[in-house]
Amino acid sequence: MKIADFYGNGHSAISFEIFPPRTSAGMVGLEERLPQLISLAPAFITVTYGALGTEQGRTLEIASRIKNDYAMEAVHHLTCVGSSREELTRTIEEIRRHNIENIIALRGDQPRGDTLFVPPSDGYSHADQLVDHIHQFGGFGIGVAGYPEKHIEAPDFTTDLRNLKRKVNNGADVIITQLYYDNSQFYRFVDHCRAVGIHQPIIPGLMPILGIEQIKRITSMCGATIPTLLLSQLEEAGNDISKVHEIGISYTANQALELLVHGVPGIHFYVLNQYFHIAEIMDRIKSAL
Ligand code: FAD
Repeated sequence: MKIADFYGNGHSAISFEIFPPRTSAGMVGLEERLPQLISLAPAFITVTYGALGTEQGRTLEIASRIKNDYAMEAVHHLTCVGSSREELTRTIEEIRRHNIENIIALRGDQPRGDTLFVPPSDGYSHADQLVDHIHQFGGFGIGVAGYPEKHIEAPDFTTDLRNLKRKVNNGADVIITQLYYDNSQFYRFVDHCRAVGIHQPIIPGLMPILGIEQIKRITSMCGATIPTLLLSQLEEAGNDISKVHEIGISYTANQALELLVHGVPGIHFYVLNQYFHIAEIMDRIKSAL
């Protein structure tokens, strides 16, 4: 089933994102957690793809397990940074061979420390080109990334929106947003998208807060803002892990509940391969689903 078909049918589709662990021990841990995550009955699970990392093969292994062993729709992320067109085609053929019907098409990032982006020879510079490549290949549902607070490299919001439109024009049928912590940013983003003629489902991406260092690190990397009140609550909780957990879970659950009341087509949770937080959040939002 294509991911676009999960949306617009009168209820909000919940999806999860996981990442391939770096180590074999991590893979064993994820193997144990997968059935737990699946028991929470998301509509589908997406698996990230290391832009230049060694875990690329693991993305397919995990996505294939979800789709073929657990009979749940799986989405394979794919980045174009660091791959030639021929390599991308080979990867897409492999994805097809494993019956996976959906790809999230991304540019990816340079390894940390490398600021200058150098596209590979015979490769692509931007995700819109990868979307076009997958669209030409045919037969896949295609998701792309959208940025309510603009992409960190984009000179301004309008330019970034124009670039998002290119991805949609090239065949993307769903937009999943970067994490953010203030729903008004999401509503504003959707309004702007609609105003420039983007009509595809736009799915808010929420990342449960596991700790103050985690949220600070991730938001500084992607340019998302942490609301002052949330930050001061987390700082006040300090090293009290159970307090931090409660603040994080309540914040994300309340954010999700507000979005559901607002009538969003779905919510994508960045679950960070954890079960406890998302299980608790799902329990708190189930009455609104
Ligand atoms: P693009 O759409 O190419 O945009 C990148 C920048 O270039 C933006 O500033 C944009 O405005 C600009 N731009 C776009 N097109 C053009 C153009 N034609 N001409 C000029 N400028 C242009 N990273 C991973 O490594 N692996 C993953 O699995 C992964 N999954 C993600 C899932 C989601 C839902 C999100 C939101 C992000 C994910 N990322 C992942 C992170 C992503 O790779 C980075 O945010 C990356 O910096 C940009 O990727 P993009 O696909 O948005 O790139």
